[in-house]
Amino acid sequence: MSEIRLFVSTTEAVAEAVLEALSSVFGEEDYAIATQEIDEARGIWEASIYGTADQEADIAERFKSLIRTDFPALVLERETLPDIDWIARSLEGLKPVRAGRFLVHGSHDRDKVRLSDIGILIDAGQAFGTGHHGTTAGCLNMLGDVLKARPVRNALDLGTGSGVLAIAAHLMARIPVLATDIDPVATRVARENARTNGIARGIAFATAPGFHHRIFRENGPFDLIIANILARPLMKLAPSLVRHLAADGTVILSGILAEQRWKVIAAYNSAGLKHRRTTWMNGWVTIELVR
Ligand code: SAH
Repeated sequence: MSEIRLFVSTTEAVAEAVLEALSSVFGEEDYAIATQEIDEARGIWEASIYGTADQEADIAERFKSLIRTDFPALVLERETLPDIDWIARSLEGLKPVRAGRFLVHGSHDRDKVRLSDIGILIDAGQAFGTGHHGTTAGCLNMLGDVLKARPVRNALDLGTGSGVLAIAAHLMARIPVLATDIDPVATRVARENARTNGIARGIAFATAPGFHHRIFRENGPFDLIIANILARPLMKLAPSLVRHLAADGTVILSGILAEQRWKVIAAYNSAGLKHRRTTWMNGWVTIELVR
């Protein structure tokens, strides 16, 4: 059955508001809802809901009535999504993702990298992190800001997945990075991705659950620790993470749903860190903390 997308085109703030409204109307059901930036220069965003062709009439009617009451200026648009194999699509069809100066792209989009970009080549595969998830994009944006704002001597990417964040940190700042993951497949994929991106030295890899490995002591303490995991493990890891942080270090956390953020911040406050800022993307937040 072919898939359809119903959407409105608007500003970022309105798209987020539409997303909220859509999730209260459709939240209990099994539809994918998303916001996405379409045109960075003009600040155009879309808020979308995805369904199958036989669900379209029902979704369209409810989406229209939501627009009529809450967003009368918006116009509902639709598109039929090409009927293709999702795995093949995830391997080849991914569009490049821009996050600050970083452009994460697959092999088929090498030519999209501009001179001023830091291109990161990641082909979708067995490990998480192609840049398409709001948490990865949120981390990349914040990473770019932090590396621009202050000198960072070394970094740790905990839960590296595809290695995307470690690669970004090394390419931008040319600093030594330690990249670890609980999953040996991720560690292997991340190492291959680093090589594909021309990094022969400069990133060390290890398979480890949390901080259970001597490599953290050998390479730490770290000026910058990035961990895009999930709220619950992040809260558990707070004391050991802070123990491996340099005296003036910065922490970037993601994998946290907006409504979970206060609990995570509280856990890191107790471990001695101060909240600096939070950014939002598609219902996920990225949090910056400092000593
Ligand atoms: N850093 C990448 C991947 C994030 S996905 C990105 O931002 O896109 C989260 C990764 O954390 C997964 O690869 C998962 O295997 C790993 N992970 C989960 N729990 C972990 C733990 N306790 N210690 C280390 N890695 C963990």
